[in-house]
Amino acid sequence: MEKLGIMESREIKGRKRDYRITNVGGVVGGECFLIETDRSAFVCDTGFGFSAPQTVENLRKALGDRTLDLILLTHSHYDHALGAPYIKDAYPDAKVVAGVYAAEVFPREGARKTMQAMDDAAASMYRAQPVPVREVHVDMAVAEGDAVDTGDMVLRVCEFPGHTRCSIGFYCEEEKLLLSCETLGVYGGEIGMIPIYLVGYNMAVDSLKKAMGLDVEVMLMPHTDVIQGPQVRTFAAEALKNTEETAREIMEMYRSGSDEKELIETVVRRYFTGYVRKLTPEAAFRLNAGYMIKCIIRDLS
Ligand SMILES: [Zn+2]
Repeated sequence: MEKLGIMESREIKGRKRDYRITNVGGVVGGECFLIETDRSAFVCDTGFGFSAPQTVENLRKALGDRTLDLILLTHSHYDHALGAPYIKDAYPDAKVVAGVYAAEVFPREGARKTMQAMDDAAASMYRAQPVPVREVHVDMAVAEGDAVDTGDMVLRVCEFPGHTRCSIGFYCEEEKLLLSCETLGVYGGEIGMIPIYLVGYNMAVDSLKKAMGLDVEVMLMPHTDVIQGPQVRTFAAEALKNTEETAREIMEMYRSGSDEKELIETVVRRYFTGYVRKLTPEAAFRLNAGYMIKCIIRDLS
C-alpha cells in the first residue's frame, strides 16, 4: 500500500453503490478525504489550518458544481480539524460532525493555544505561511451508535478512544465501509501498522478489538489510503500485535529498572524508521512515545 497522493482518487465498487474517495488535502500530512456517491459528497478530516486554503481549492476542483453535505472529524487534533472552518466558509450548508468530547475541546482557550503552536510549527516545517487558528464549530456532536445520514449512506458512529478521548470512526454497515481513526493505528510503511495512543493503552486495545468485531471490507485509514478485502483484517491484527508486543517489552524493561529515556529509545528504535522518519518530526515522535509509555505503565502496573 502507498499513500494516496494529493488529488488522487480510488474508485470503489461498493455493495449497493459505487463511490469515489479523493485526497483533497492541501499538503502531505494534512489529508482531507472526499467521499462522493451519486447522491452525496462529504469529507473525512480536514487537514491543517495553514494548508486549508489549498485544501479548499482542491476540494472545489474535485467537486465542480456539486455541494458538500458533511464535514466529518475523527478527532480534535490540529492536523485533522483546523481545515474545517475554511471548508465551512466555502460550503456553508455542510454540517460539521464530531464526537461529543471533541465538541467540548474546541472552544477551550488552552486547546486553541496548543493548536496554534502546533499548526505554526507545522507551517514552518513546510515553509508555509502560518495562519491564526480559527475555532471549529461543531453542528452535530455525536456519540456511540448515533446515525449520521449523508443523504445517501447511513454512517454509525463508533467511539474508538485511545489516541485521544474524542476519537471516533464512522461505519457504513450497508457498504461494510469503515472510516477509521488514529486509535486503530497509522500506516508505518515497511513496519506495518503502528499504534499511537496518547490517553490509554487498555482503551486502545479495547478499541482495536471492537473494530475487529465489525464486518469491514473497505477501510479508509487516516493520513494514508483505502485498504480493501482481506488486507483489512491483516492490518488490524498487525496493529493489535504490535501494540501488545511493544507494551510487553516496555513493561519488562520498566520492571527491571529502565528509566524513561531508555524506554523512549526502545519505542524510537521499533517505530521511528524509514517511512515514519520521513513524515514525522523526531521531537513530535518522542513526545508521543513518552505519552504511550505513561499509558502502558499506568494501565499494566
Ligand atoms: Zn491525531
